[in-house]
Amino acid sequence: MPLLEVKDLRVYYYTLKGVVKAVDKISFSVEKGETLGLAGESGCGKSTLGFSLLRLVPPPGRIVEGKILFENMDVTSLPEDRLRREYRWKRVSMIFQGAMNALNPVKTIGDQIAEAILVHEENVTKKEALERAAELLKMVGIDPRRIKSYPHELSGGMKQRVIIAMALALNPPLVIADEPTTALDVVVQAQIMNLLKRLKKQYNMSMILISHDLALIAEIADRVAVMYAGKIVELGTAEQIYNSPKHPYTQGLISSVPRLRGPKKLEWIPGQPPDLRNPPPGCRFAPRCPYATDRCRRGEPPVIEIEPQHYVGCWLYTK
Ligand code: SF4
Repeated sequence: MPLLEVKDLRVYYYTLKGVVKAVDKISFSVEKGETLGLAGESGCGKSTLGFSLLRLVPPPGRIVEGKILFENMDVTSLPEDRLRREYRWKRVSMIFQGAMNALNPVKTIGDQIAEAILVHEENVTKKEALERAAELLKMVGIDPRRIKSYPHELSGGMKQRVIIAMALALNPPLVIADEPTTALDVVVQAQIMNLLKRLKKQYNMSMILISHDLALIAEIADRVAVMYAGKIVELGTAEQIYNSPKHPYTQGLISSVPRLRGPKKLEWIPGQPPDLRNPPPGCRFAPRCPYATDRCRRGEPPVIEIEPQHYVGCWLYTK
């Protein structure tokens, strides 16, 4: 039984200018101890997907269809109080994009980690929460004596470590990390990725790493899902996606990452992703795809398994 199973999930935003289909019939699973990379350009729906797994889609967005099963518990129908008591942070936590800049400037980092524990854990005293905060700081590579430091006294990398400590405060089996190294320099980025790798191994934690950076995902992911315009267009093991990408969009993405493929010509994919209020009929990548035919413009390609564990939604692979 997978740890997390997402079936035919649709998440729409009901805006004044129309319905934005940010996540449109997406299915995937995450196994215990596995890291799934969720890749795609910004605006493809990957962060919305992350929020929806915690049932935290901001209005005017909402889950309109589909199921999220965590350890066989139906998260989609769980009432808000149970989500708070039993699910969020205890079973699944999230490292939100840009969270390190949202730390409270007038509270010590120790108090902020302790608060995250006290909000979600009953029967814990403030003293116990602070002791746990000190342990967590040590776990993420910060001297516990810094517990009384304020965010402005820390570097960007240290602030991100504090955010990771908060996400791990209640030992969740699954952590969603949304662009966890954005705004950090390359050296600190590598340190944060090494920390995530170490923690994942040490605690046999599962992770969903959301990023536009395929090179970053390649460092840690066991499997990779590639999203385009609200849909997963390809899903496979990291080896299948990086060494033998099948979907023309994945091929374009991989070839545009010089670090992955050596010093080869940068082949950026021309064109823009479609407006998700009014996506084209048929394959959503058709307006940018060099292989598009009339069939692609008429009907949406089914997602099929072309080899064990390797799924693609493209007419090129369907008879
Ligand atoms: Fe290109 Fe057609 Fe495949 Fe879409 S279905 S990616 S348009 S070949």
